[in-house]
Amino acid sequence: MNIPRYYLSLIDEKNFQNDPIKKLALPDEDELVIAGSMGETTTDPYGDDKHNKGNGILHKYPYSALIVATDYCSMYCRHCFRKAIVGLPNDKTVENFKNAAKYIKEHKEITNVIISGGDPLLISTSRLIAMLEELKDIEHINYVRIGTRTPVVYPMRFFDEELLNYFKEFNKVKTLYIPTHFNHINEITPMATKAILKIREAGVTVNNQAVLLKGVNDSAQDIENLMNGLVKIGVNPYYLYQCMPVSRVRNHFQVPLKDGIDMVDDAKTRLDGYAKRFKFIMGHDIGKIEIIGRIDDKLILKHIHSRPEFPKDASKCMIMKLDDKAGWLDDMQEIKF
Ligand code: SF4
Repeated sequence: MNIPRYYLSLIDEKNFQNDPIKKLALPDEDELVIAGSMGETTTDPYGDDKHNKGNGILHKYPYSALIVATDYCSMYCRHCFRKAIVGLPNDKTVENFKNAAKYIKEHKEITNVIISGGDPLLISTSRLIAMLEELKDIEHINYVRIGTRTPVVYPMRFFDEELLNYFKEFNKVKTLYIPTHFNHINEITPMATKAILKIREAGVTVNNQAVLLKGVNDSAQDIENLMNGLVKIGVNPYYLYQCMPVSRVRNHFQVPLKDGIDMVDDAKTRLDGYAKRFKFIMGHDIGKIEIIGRIDDKLILKHIHSRPEFPKDASKCMIMKLDDKAGWLDDMQEIKF
């Protein structure tokens, strides 16, 4: 575990047991349950292992390459789906960024690069700049993303003027995005707001990928508060992920799909257009699947990305038989017409 003092200070001691920040940050005895009543679990729900090309590159969809730039994070989130590698020695982290950049140069189908981890903002500014310099002049890359939770858990990282000035310069050549990960309105503090403003002043767009988590943000009101809070500080709500079936996570954090879609639909009846732009998503081994809605006991899904072996699935719709307990695609049967 690792928790920055700033993030620890957000826990409301008067509501300690039920505090959402506490649940996101502090280990709990529920983590001793590897699978549990919600069903089977895995340490690799997204199928990262299959798409590992060496040199720290994960290449799942033809157009996107992900670079595992570090295994460190400023906080080890209790619900992390890369729990099996972050904070631990592993062979997936990039050792030689030049070799990673070489792979990207050679694969002209790649239109965008995600620098991820762990949390790349834990890398020193000079090293991060050296990494971005390698990508800046690759013609076929349209944009670069840096996936980071530091705006949420360690926002003071963005008070580094050298970093922000570089972002501004980089962004003139190649568009830079920061996908981040706010899960609860209590994380949208004056300090986090200031960090977001600094990023935006550098011309960088910030998109949010939240995770629906039991006991943290599992009500329509929580979702509404979060999405309204994000648009207020200039962050675009992008994804709300269904919690993956990760070992030591699923049993106590996953919300049944039926409850989840009802909460999302309820929240969306009150959210304005910008606040309800997010998609409710399952990041599955077979691709990214949007959870569109439900009609009684039928759940309507749509692929938005699929693995290259199954190009015809890329925009496929599916209708699944839903019960009260199902929490993942594999818990449901497809209804064929
Ligand atoms: S910051 Fe991201 S990668 Fe790191 S522990 Fe949290 S969710 Fe996992």
